[in-house]
Amino acid sequence: MDDSATIAVVGASTAGLAAAGSLRARGFTGRLVMIGEERFRPYDRPPLSKQFLTGQWDSDRLALPGADAPDLDVDWRLGVGATGLDAASRTIGLADGSELRCDGIVLACGASARRLPGTLGVPGIHVLRTLDDAAALRRDLESGPGRVVVVGAGFVGCEVAATCRTRNIAVTLVDPLDVPLQRVFGAAVGAVFADLHRSAGVDVRTGVGVAGFDTDASGRVSRVRLDDGTAPEATVVVVGVGAVANTSWLEGSGLKIDDGIRCDPSCVAAPGIVAVGDVLRWQNPVFDESMRVEHWDHAFASGEHAAGSLLDPANAGPLATVPWFWSDQYDRKIQFAGRIAPGDDMVVVDGSLDEHRFVALFGRAGRLVGVLGMNRPRHVIGLRPRIAEGITFADALAVFA
Ligand SMILES: Cc1cc2nc3c(=O)[nH]c(=O)nc-3n(C[C@H](O)[C@H](O)[C@H](O)COP(=O)(O)OP(=O)(O)OC[C@H]3O[C@@H](n4cnc5c(N)ncnc54)[C@H](O)[C@@H]3O)c2cc1C
Repeated sequence: MDDSATIAVVGASTAGLAAAGSLRARGFTGRLVMIGEERFRPYDRPPLSKQFLTGQWDSDRLALPGADAPDLDVDWRLGVGATGLDAASRTIGLADGSELRCDGIVLACGASARRLPGTLGVPGIHVLRTLDDAAALRRDLESGPGRVVVVGAGFVGCEVAATCRTRNIAVTLVDPLDVPLQRVFGAAVGAVFADLHRSAGVDVRTGVGVAGFDTDASGRVSRVRLDDGTAPEATVVVVGVGAVANTSWLEGSGLKIDDGIRCDPSCVAAPGIVAVGDVLRWQNPVFDESMRVEHWDHAFASGEHAAGSLLDPANAGPLATVPWFWSDQYDRKIQFAGRIAPGDDMVVVDGSLDEHRFVALFGRAGRLVGVLGMNRPRHVIGLRPRIAEGITFADALAVFA
């Protein structure tokens, strides 16, 4: 694409910024437009449930490096969402009524927090996805002695529970499955997280669903009714029940939508259109699996990769990655690399689950498919490339023999 070309990036966050930076680094000199529904320049989301929510950091520390670099030379269109796309003509419709005809498009529109029915707009009930969400939640946490109920013991829920305890706030953590993070790591590792949170004073209530929310005379949430008949008191509720890919605006666009934007292995959704980050669904050759990945590292890596696919489609290779993420809860640093599923073998090869300091390997069909470290980052980083190489489970276990 030459000087006269226009590329639009829809979604001004981690993946979109990585793609924009990579387009420039690869020599794109045309017009680069970044369209963002939020009014902020790209900021980092992981600290929202950690340093920002504890009060250690303020919003000015969240800015993602590179957004203000002069050589990025971006035409920012912030606070205005894209409302429609015609993939065949590469025309984007915007919420202000304008249209943008492009030579290339990067879809980096991410995901939104899933809500529970009847909770939208109820004072005291929060989700946590954006800086506005986090600021509203932080204000509520700081407004006096309270009692927090976190609904959903996934990563965001567990991190919020940990942050509340760090702030010495009473917190109940509720999940319908038997242990926190069960869907991610299985029952044995999930039990470690239950123990970790209970030791820190969290009232962990697992194996129980939410039946409804009670409000006081002012309309503010006052209790969460659980389906075991109990009803913990709540001045603040945080709903952390996962995220939904932001694809509703793409209905009728001509793209394939299937829990994300379905792309080819090189992140191409249609000629001249790529998808990146949380919204991307693609066939990852490392695992020979169609996947959508909601991690920071993937947002960055896919953004960089897809920029290459957009500028040079003839030579576009597959995005072949081993997903990797971290989570911080209390003084525990959790890192995981790979892709695991229920029924995978798991062997603790270093430390122990009881001491909350360990390395666990996951295997399937004789192959290493995942490595989890709790306060043991070195092994996760070391084995990540070996997963991509296809190391056998036996050879991975032998590393620790
Ligand atoms: C609280 C929290 C903590 C996290 N902690 C970790 C962690 O510890 N480790 C980790 O690996 N990952 C973590 N993550 C996940 C990580 O932040 C995401 O994977 C990453 O932000 C994805 O980047 P993205 O650019 O694909 O999407 P997003 O960050 O979701 O950005 C998408 C952007 O697109 C905008 N948008 C959506 N639709 C439109 C539209 N139609 N028009 C214009 N703009 C639009 C959205 O407003 C948003 O700004 C965390 C996420 C959250 C919410």
